[in-house]
Amino acid sequence: MTDIVDIVTERIEAERAAIVARRRVARPAPTTATPATACAGCGQPIPPARRQARPGAIRCAGCEAAHEVRQARRHRTGV
Ligand SMILES: [Zn+2]
Repeated sequence: MTDIVDIVTERIEAERAAIVARRRVARPAPTTATPATACAGCGQPIPPARRQARPGAIRCAGCEAAHEVRQARRHRTGV
């Protein structure tokens, strides 16, 4: 004979599994994109500390700074 506790436990487990499955769909893992390991500017390896601080970084700190200066200049002059 099936106990009421068994039935309730089964339902709770099923609901918990459904909630976990929905959360997985709603929030995909943030590490799906492969982080850049080589700088897009100079080709040198991006230091692990920078990659950790800026997971989406595609340039090393020096190249990023130079890139931002160029972007600002381009924005100012409209060239
Ligand atoms: Zn660089």
